[in-house]
Amino acid sequence: MNTLVTGGAGYIGSHTVIELLAAGHDVVVIDNLSNASRAVVPAIESLVGRELPFVECDIRDRDGLDRILASGGFEAVLHFAALKAVGESTAEPLRYHQNNVAGTICLLEAMAAHGVKRFVFSSSASVYGDPADTPIGEDCPVDPRSPYARTKAGVEGILHDVHAADPDWRVSILRYFNAVGAHPSGEIGEDPTGVPNNLLPFVAQVAVGRRERLNVFGDDYPTPDGTGIRDYLHVVDLARGHLSALDYLSATPGVSVHNLGTGRGHSVFEVVRAFEAACGRDIPYRVVSRRPGDVAVSWADPSKARDELRWTAQYDLDRICADLWRWQSTHPHGFRGRKA
Ligand code: NAD
Ligand code: UDP
Repeated sequence: MNTLVTGGAGYIGSHTVIELLAAGHDVVVIDNLSNASRAVVPAIESLVGRELPFVECDIRDRDGLDRILASGGFEAVLHFAALKAVGESTAEPLRYHQNNVAGTICLLEAMAAHGVKRFVFSSSASVYGDPADTPIGEDCPVDPRSPYARTKAGVEGILHDVHAADPDWRVSILRYFNAVGAHPSGEIGEDPTGVPNNLLPFVAQVAVGRRERLNVFGDDYPTPDGTGIRDYLHVVDLARGHLSALDYLSATPGVSVHNLGTGRGHSVFEVVRAFEAACGRDIPYRVVSRRPGDVAVSWADPSKARDELRWTAQYDLDRICADLWRWQSTHPHGFRGRKA
């Protein structure tokens, strides 16, 4: 398939581009590089042995999108481009709605104008808010609790409306749980700017000596060891979920919603122990108070993706930590400092 990948220089997008190219799909990446390095493009090219067309373009730039779509003969768009920091979204809600919602509308308008009507959307488990029960199935009510989560829920609603008005659209909404790990080659991985918000990038930076110690946000949750539990999904498993979604779109009209998660939960302390085993170093930590907005427990019921997309996660937490350590230990400062 001939695909356009927005945000394809970012963390999940870049891993998905590798899987798309390896499976023989054609790919053009657009990204405004607001949270990515251009150096990821040659890294992907050398891993896959294929050229990767890249255009620096913002999804809110309608003229730029028109030029790309007019030249491409695209059959589907995979839409990763978004701002994703929950805390920042609370401080800058308009920037988040502008980028994530208005940007997606601009992209959908451009696609419609060029007759491209297959769309895979990066949604998030954050749309569920703080559900009463785990595991979380797709029928769990949507209850977004942050501006970021509301941008995801808002775009989901827009996609249902677009399809209702024009049933030619085929849309796959993928609600990701916690994307973690790195490509097994060690050449591509997450490259957070500033202090990482998320657990595994922070732990990896402690292990490599960039941070002194981990702050564990609360050990008084109603969980077996008192720390929060999440569903950690290897980014390569997540990337492969998009290939399954594209196959599903080819066979199935309409709008579909699928969780992408492992169906297993791990506590913060379990993650720390697994990472210590992978890197052979101690991870110093101290327990501090809970982080506002955190839920105690979140993990997916992934059975709908298993049954309909024929997708299940293959990699466990030990493999996640081993692959992340390979990337972090060989690229302690990520892509920065590398030539573009
Ligand atoms: P990322 O920041 O690494 O990738 C997003 C990419 O989009 C970046 O390269 C950024 O430069 C680009 N971008 C942002 N705004 C843009 C714009 N206006 N125009 C063009 N490019 C733009 O993030 P990621 O972790 O790879 O996340 C990818 C998608 O998955 C996002 O939509 C995110 O909300 C969603 N998601 C991520 C997670 C996770 O655990 N990382 C979980 C749930 C959902
Ligand atoms: N966490 C932590 N210290 C950190 C970052 C995260 O203890 O520096 C905890 C957090 O409270 C949660 C889990 O690790 O229980 C996963 O947090 P992350 O931010 O990675 O994912 P999210 O909370 O968005 O699911």
